[in-house]
Amino acid sequence: MREGLIAIVVLLAPLGAAAQPSCGPPTPSDMEGPFYTPGAPLRASLVEPGAKGERVVLTGRVLGADCKPVTGALLDFWQADEKGEYDNKGFRYRGKVTADGDGRYRIETILPAEYPGRPRHLHVKVQRPGARVLTTQLYFPGEPHRQNPALVVKAERRDGAWVAVFDFNLP
Ligand code: FE
Repeated sequence: MREGLIAIVVLLAPLGAAAQPSCGPPTPSDMEGPFYTPGAPLRASLVEPGAKGERVVLTGRVLGADCKPVTGALLDFWQADEKGEYDNKGFRYRGKVTADGDGRYRIETILPAEYPGRPRHLHVKVQRPGARVLTTQLYFPGEPHRQNPALVVKAERRDGAWVAVFDFNLP
């Protein structure tokens, strides 16, 4: 009887370990800055007609602390345009996307221009439905200014466009 119990415990132990995978530390927050405008439209592309900036396709997943996908997570992006300017009257280069059933999101945009003293960055607010909002910024590799390495997207240039990947880990 006792040996049987031990055998069961030994068998279950690896399953318990597998049930708690690690998907990385929580994504750090970063400054909101002065240019957030609530109420941006839902749209898969922020690219304006005639945009001159380099195209960026950003994809990734939104995961919880349990490493499970956060279905329906809302990602609210805003950024500077190819001149380094924010639209503070309308919604140019502002828009929201939602994560699908696998926690996946995708947005097309342009590489924002630098503005004085700052690396190129995308602002984003990420929210699990009904939960706290994570406000942060994403950066691009190879920038001269200092940036948080935990917030740098994986990016490579393919056919003249940046293909970028970033996974968010919500607490
Ligand atoms: Fe900014």
